[in-house]
Amino acid sequence: MKLAETVTFGGSHLNRGAEHRRDAGQIAALWHGGKVLLIWRGRPLLQDGGALVWLPATHDLAGQVGTALFLGMDGDGVEGDQAAFAQDISAWMPVEPVAQQAGFFDTSVQGHPDLPPSQMFHELRAVMATLSPRDAELAATARALLEWHRSHGFCASCGAKSDMVHAGWQRSCPVCNAQHFPRTDPVVIMLITRGNTVLLGRGPTWPEGMYSLLAGFIEPGETIEAAVRREVLEESAVVVGQVGYLASQPWPFPASLMIGCWGEALSDAITVDPDELQDARWVTREEMVEAFAGTHPLIKPSRKGAIARFLLDHWLADRLD
Ligand SMILES: [Zn+2]
Repeated sequence: MKLAETVTFGGSHLNRGAEHRRDAGQIAALWHGGKVLLIWRGRPLLQDGGALVWLPATHDLAGQVGTALFLGMDGDGVEGDQAAFAQDISAWMPVEPVAQQAGFFDTSVQGHPDLPPSQMFHELRAVMATLSPRDAELAATARALLEWHRSHGFCASCGAKSDMVHAGWQRSCPVCNAQHFPRTDPVVIMLITRGNTVLLGRGPTWPEGMYSLLAGFIEPGETIEAAVRREVLEESAVVVGQVGYLASQPWPFPASLMIGCWGEALSDAITVDPDELQDARWVTREEMVEAFAGTHPLIKPSRKGAIARFLLDHWLADRLD
């Protein structure tokens, strides 16, 4: 798919500077002239909800290089690249805590007394479709990596507390010397078509009217193609023949890589697995246009920024090649 990498989080050709990660002295030198993105409880700091805020490493809130993640060398290619870091300040407790919203995800924002009121921490899912590709890649990388550190503090081999090394790209066990690397969990998400229709489903806990493409985790020992066929069969009883790859999307909620595929349905009849889905149905192109226009009686427009919407938009526009 020619336009594959234009998906949200689809990448901005960031120079990740992997050659610097192992050299603590070099990372410390880069830190002095570097810029720092603050992340609070998974939320990046944004200016007026639109662009990432970068603080100089000398800023009081930027913390120490020893706990910072090195994201890469960022720049416009004109004035030279600057080292970009992320610092987790989740331990900070606001005096007036952020109001937790009920709903599919929390869209409330949080300010900080040492920062201007125009700079707030935002839930990434709420702003992902409006970030520039570079900001989206940096924020997704920082969020996914921080969540991995938060949830993998102990060695999976011996249970001892492990240490962050290589500027955030590895954890090392001081007891058994095992090395651990950031996890990415592959998920297939599939545009299953039958003539003029596409297969959509909705989960039991989703907001009313929300439908999406079927999706599921790839199992150990399975190919991408086999996972597409198995998931569709399990969730809807629809048999899928030929499968192909379309586009992928890093999805840092918390650590997935969405692998967008197409698949040709060989059968029509749908039987949903009630543990996985509340409903699944064949939707025509005409109905999909109505749904995205907000005029469909049942199906609401799917969320901008998610790969399901991206694939459906390109299917409607006949741009899957
Ligand atoms: Zn260990």
